[in-house]
Amino acid sequence: MAQLIDGKLVSAKTREKIKFKVKERSKKGFLPDLAVIVVGNNPASAVYVKNKIKSAEDVGIATRVLQYPEDVSEQEILDRIYRLNNDYLVNGILVQLPLPNHISEKKIASAISPSKDVDAFHPENVGKIFLGNYNFLPCTPAGIIRLLEYYKVEISGKRCVVIGRSNIVGKPMAHLLLERNGTVTVCHSKTPNLAEITKQADILVVAVGKPQFITADMVKPDAVVIDVGINRLDNGKLVGDVDFNSVSEIASYITPVPGGVGLMTVTMLLENTLKAAEIQVNNLN
Ligand code: NDP
Repeated sequence: MAQLIDGKLVSAKTREKIKFKVKERSKKGFLPDLAVIVVGNNPASAVYVKNKIKSAEDVGIATRVLQYPEDVSEQEILDRIYRLNNDYLVNGILVQLPLPNHISEKKIASAISPSKDVDAFHPENVGKIFLGNYNFLPCTPAGIIRLLEYYKVEISGKRCVVIGRSNIVGKPMAHLLLERNGTVTVCHSKTPNLAEITKQADILVVAVGKPQFITADMVKPDAVVIDVGINRLDNGKLVGDVDFNSVSEIASYITPVPGGVGLMTVTMLLENTLKAAEIQVNNLN
């Protein structure tokens, strides 16, 4: 039976450290401040935003939610971002995705000042990550690396397989594993014979968005399995992309859903916000 990689535990420990640092900084008169722009009324987004705000407030980070109707123009959002970029009280800016079709996610990501880009989606930050010289990492892959480090999972020399090649999870995840000397294969919807590849993985990261997609017959015995997926079944149950019951029988380590990667994603957002605040204050001094 696999050992659980406990996102709740690692997240709680990390948040305690963040809370302590925020408290120390607040004694010197500054409070990290995160602005979250929300467009429309996507119910899943509303849950994510509520969770981010509550988590930020729990560690003492100030927040502001800027809510816009679904039909707001792209220009209005861009103008708001430019104002936030120039507002010295705001340290981190996050635009909750997905956005309505008439608003370009690429344009929005490029408008946020790289120094306030706590999601690390700005092209400048993406470039810095690929050159290995960055301030911020995207929250989900950063959270996964933190979990692997906490459980002392060796990456160097290991065969790593990432399923999914999105800009926010799969691609940066593959890069971070490569940077740590993993031998990395990235799979996607056009990959033939997927199971043949996944069965070779010492570390398998699954970010597909299909409930219980990875079954035990696709996993090498004793593999470390990281489940990024968040899928809501018709009966309301939240499940990952991995069939937890069967895969946990053969893996050495596994992340649960919920209680795994999702919590770490929010925790890394808090860490990025604190870091952004520290960098901005140091630049002012
Ligand atoms: P995307 O939809 O952007 O990417 C999904 C990827 O899966 C694509 O690269 C796609 O391939 C690939 N894929 C789809 N079908 C298959 C298949 N049959 N075989 C192999 N690969 C396939 O999703 P995200 O990366 O944004 O998110 C993935 C999952 O992770 C979702 O469930 C999302 O909710 C969750 N998520 C969880 C987070 C957390 O904090 N835990 C944070 C972010 C996301 P192709 O490129 O060819 O289309």
